[in-house]
Amino acid sequence: MYAEPAIEPQLYSPRLGSLEQVTKTMLAAFGEAGKDTGVEVGALLTINTDENLEIAEDLAYVAARHAGRGVTGLGTAGFVEPGNLRRYRSSASIAQASGLPIVSHAGQTGGPESITEALDELGATRISHGFRAIECTELVHRLADEKIVCDMCPVSNHRLGIISKVEDHPAPRLLRAGIQITLNADDPLWFKAGITDQYEIARKSWGLSDPEIASFARAGALATGMSSGTRQRLLEGVAAWLKEENSP
Ligand SMILES: [Zn+2]
Repeated sequence: MYAEPAIEPQLYSPRLGSLEQVTKTMLAAFGEAGKDTGVEVGALLTINTDENLEIAEDLAYVAARHAGRGVTGLGTAGFVEPGNLRRYRSSASIAQASGLPIVSHAGQTGGPESITEALDELGATRISHGFRAIECTELVHRLADEKIVCDMCPVSNHRLGIISKVEDHPAPRLLRAGIQITLNADDPLWFKAGITDQYEIARKSWGLSDPEIASFARAGALATGMSSGTRQRLLEGVAAWLKEENSP
């Protein structure tokens, strides 16, 4: 019903024009595709913190201009975690001033300190990955208390060799510690796995209950920038599934 990809318009700029033009083109294409597929798309315009310092504020302004009209957040992603996020504070403020949340990659290649950095330096309210929070009890409590949502991608973590056995992924322990978690494909073309594959892991490898599995979809509905109509339909669908699964 809804997809929220992290997109770096700067990658396409050399061929497709300015950040604004690329973003407009993409948003129009998402709108068209949505009419055919019934899948709504929200775009997380994303700064690559390894190399995008000089365009970061420009991208934040583009995101701000399209806030609530196809762009649903400003993301940061980088291979190096922690990544000196302080340098991106002004960009984060530009997005936040227009009501967009900051969604930061952290706690994947980097340890718990990279998650703390995203929270403290950028005011991130969602963390992409974040599973390495498990290494710091204090941080686990903080994520639960502050209702920070962690977007986890078990197939990706396993295929990249960060988690050796998918059964040992910390997501179930983090969920039971009260952290809100969504399940995601990360990069479905690269990893050859979609959303359903992640849910299969939750069922078969982690042995989670129906309410626990439903909580992933519910967190996705509540934490992302989908329209209120889609959110309502999704939440109703999850509730109906739970009821059906648990009726005799
Ligand atoms: Zn990722």
